[in-house]
Amino acid sequence: MAVNVVMLGPPGAGKGTQAERLAARHGVPRISTGDILREAVQAGTELGRAVERTMAAGELVGDDLMVEIVRARLDRPDVGRGFVLDGFPRTVPQAVALDRMVEGRGPLAVLHIVVPADVIVARLNGRRICGTCGANAPPEAAVDGTCPRCQGRFVPRPDDDEAVIRERLRVYEQQTRPLVAYYRSRPGFFTVDGNQTPDRVQAAIEAALARMGPVAGDRGPDAEVTP
Ligand code: AMP
Repeated sequence: MAVNVVMLGPPGAGKGTQAERLAARHGVPRISTGDILREAVQAGTELGRAVERTMAAGELVGDDLMVEIVRARLDRPDVGRGFVLDGFPRTVPQAVALDRMVEGRGPLAVLHIVVPADVIVARLNGRRICGTCGANAPPEAAVDGTCPRCQGRFVPRPDDDEAVIRERLRVYEQQTRPLVAYYRSRPGFFTVDGNQTPDRVQAAIEAALARMGPVAGDRGPDAEVTP
């Protein structure tokens, strides 16, 4: 069965780390729209120049552009067995567009990762990316470590300074949190406690996916969870 996963949660909830693990475990690509955009910025492409300021300010890139990026990515052959979407959808119009894109591909699992706000701010303050290719540094990477992809040096993420962090959290509350209401009545919606070790979060995610069973909607009696 295809593994079609959406990671939902505020910046710093651990979506990226868990998306990487989930994708590796199930042999499907992790599709991070933030990584796609950061790579475009680093490479100085037309897309990168178009989104650079928006990203640096902590605002959202326009829905039409994001939907086109994801549509093109989901058309590639490596998503035949599924995907893990990390950072998309972030607005209700993006979620509506995604529903159309995945029609006929099997059920969607939506993993809502919940972490208290003070923990998020502390995590974001320490986060780094590769200064060359834009990839997220793994949380365990040494402070002076190098990127496993391209050997570039890790630097603080430009949108992780405190004012921008606050703005990104505000944008999340205003534009992305409504997706919880959009998805929560679906059988594939699960809330996961993200305020525990990455291994425990991973175990909770695998348990949630197992509850989906071979048929969408078969998720057992104690599936979701919190308001
Ligand atoms: P992320 O790495 O997912 O936190 O994304 C970093 C930044 O990229 C966000 O703050 C937005 O500016 C932009 N971005 C990523 N994904 C989306 C999306 N689905 N819709 C709009 N903007 C996005």
